[in-house]
Amino acid sequence: MTIPPSDRTMTAIEELIAAGLVESGAAAALTEVAARYSVAVPASVARLISHPDDPIGRQFLPRAAELLLLPEENGDPIGDGAHEAVRGLIHRYPDRALLKITSVCPVYCRFCFRRASVGAGTEGVLDDAALDGAFAYLADHKEIWEVIVTGGDPLAVSPRRLAQVSRRLAALPHVKILRVHSRVPVLAPERVTPALTEALKSSGKTVYVAVHANHPRELTERARAACARLADAGIALVSQSVLLRGVNDDVDVLSALMRAFVETRIKPYYLHHGDLAPGTSHFRLSLAEGQALVRELLGRLSGLCQPIYVVDIPGGHGKAPVGPVYVSRQAQGWSVVDWRGIRHDYVDSLGQSREPQP
Ligand SMILES: *Cc1c(COP(=O)(O)O)cnc(C)c1O
Ligand code: SF4
Repeated sequence: MTIPPSDRTMTAIEELIAAGLVESGAAAALTEVAARYSVAVPASVARLISHPDDPIGRQFLPRAAELLLLPEENGDPIGDGAHEAVRGLIHRYPDRALLKITSVCPVYCRFCFRRASVGAGTEGVLDDAALDGAFAYLADHKEIWEVIVTGGDPLAVSPRRLAQVSRRLAALPHVKILRVHSRVPVLAPERVTPALTEALKSSGKTVYVAVHANHPRELTERARAACARLADAGIALVSQSVLLRGVNDDVDVLSALMRAFVETRIKPYYLHHGDLAPGTSHFRLSLAEGQALVRELLGRLSGLCQPIYVVDIPGGHGKAPVGPVYVSRQAQGWSVVDWRGIRHDYVDSLGQSREPQP
């Protein structure tokens, strides 16, 4: 492979061919893929790829399989559209709202749940008029306790723009938490500058950054250092990962990933079941496969390392935990399964007497 030098980002199929990352024979199919879903592979990310089909290559290099659409797949798999209160603002749950400040990312994940609405040819940074509208809505809705800034990748916007958003949030006393979901600390760590951390802090709110990574190899020294800069600035870190075939559908890989998060002061938060995004079936596992993997994490890993396995219910109904169930009703009381898979009776006399009988 011949990866271009410096911080250059490859966006054209010809560049990926020249770098030896994809095969020239696939050019026509991949050009069609790239016309549907943006491609961006920074040289620093390309350097982590040792084989196009390895866990890093699979996440970022386009493949012909993306042209296959299944009937259950959908351009808006988690139903953002159903809850878009005003342009750029999605209000699904009463106490929290999503603010999409940009529709671009420094690197495009091939399994992205918003792939139909992010990338080249989309609106880019949310314009001033939309931002005014979103903030008017937030000011009017005093039940909103948390604002989740997302995108695209919200940390791909300039620190100046981020500081504007942050200052406007600071003016809303009912908003207590600012949460930012981003892949930047891991995949574009050089963007985590003092200006960026300062922009987040200027909200005066309690700030959480939800760091997206799916394989322990993404947590390079530079990535860990960027996360440390955020943590040292007083920003709380949680993780989000997507369960992906050929990337992290392995208990050792998942264990190493969760431990790497905790070692980096990132508390594992969500492990997402792959959303029904168009052209992503080659990445998805069955729910039963996901549950079997997650079950193996119990006991094997510290409680600090346990993520919540969730699915976003298609149609905009929100997230629900879909992990294995360890407890079941018995004729008398309950049965609980331990981390080795052994069942134990659990006497629950209070439940027996107080619960309504069916
Ligand atoms: C995922 C999501 C949230 C945040 O959900 P949490 O369970 O609080 O992490 C909020 N709003 C929307 C629209 C979402 O998709
Ligand atoms: S960083 Fe997030 S929004 Fe951007 S392509 Fe990846 S999953 Fe999609």
